[in-house]
Amino acid sequence: MKKKSELLYHGKTKSLYATDEPDYLVAKFNDDITAFNQKKHAIIEGKGSFSNHFNAFIMQKLKEEGVDNHFQSKLSENQSIIKHLKMLPIECIVRNRAAGSFCKRFGIEKGQILDPATFEFCLKDDALSDPMINESILLTLNLATKGQIAAVKKISQRVNNILEPLFDDSQFILVDYKLEFGLFHGAILLGDEFTLDTCRIWDHDTKEIFDKDRFREDLEGGVMPFYHEVARRVGLR
Ligand code: UDP
Repeated sequence: MKKKSELLYHGKTKSLYATDEPDYLVAKFNDDITAFNQKKHAIIEGKGSFSNHFNAFIMQKLKEEGVDNHFQSKLSENQSIIKHLKMLPIECIVRNRAAGSFCKRFGIEKGQILDPATFEFCLKDDALSDPMINESILLTLNLATKGQIAAVKKISQRVNNILEPLFDDSQFILVDYKLEFGLFHGAILLGDEFTLDTCRIWDHDTKEIFDKDRFREDLEGGVMPFYHEVARRVGLR
């Protein structure tokens, strides 16, 4: 039994605590929801516990399908035990459809199918607004090695091969999402979270929004009823 100890990090939506085993942390999902680089913020009761359960569900699915990741077990309604990774300072954004910044940057119509899916690296740096970065720059700035970049690309592709059909089977379109990775005893593992705060999901037929864009755009009907409907349709509860 791993015992939770001191707070190591208080992020936008999660807090990380040490445990009595250096290889493991406790991740606590908070009720905060933020957007536009924290310019918009709210507390949504129950979102932390929802995200904890949803993340556990997705990470367990990925593990069952052979994509190892940092998730270990749920500890409580809003906390999970995770492996202690040394995070790479990059995000990998996977896109199956054009939305958000992709449409703005490349002048592509929202909803256009992206086939093959695109994989895009961003530097994790809020002060710089997470600029897009490529392999050459990552290598030159010593932010990742060739082997690490290859592992990140391979895992991201496998994640998409699993998750895109999983949501498709539940009559949803997995539009785009963000993945993060870290090192655990020298190996690259998927880390951070996969929740409805870090992806875009639309109803297959109506294209209705079921993700954090509901909060970004102040859509009528709020956020949680839609998050619960995604959980219901994918078979989580
Ligand atoms: N995303 C995220 N965290 C980030 C950046 C992006 O979770 O720091 C997710 C975002 O929710 C969306 C996808 O990655 O599902 C692509 O985001 P995009 O680049 O279109 O940026 P946005 O439109 O959110 O500014």
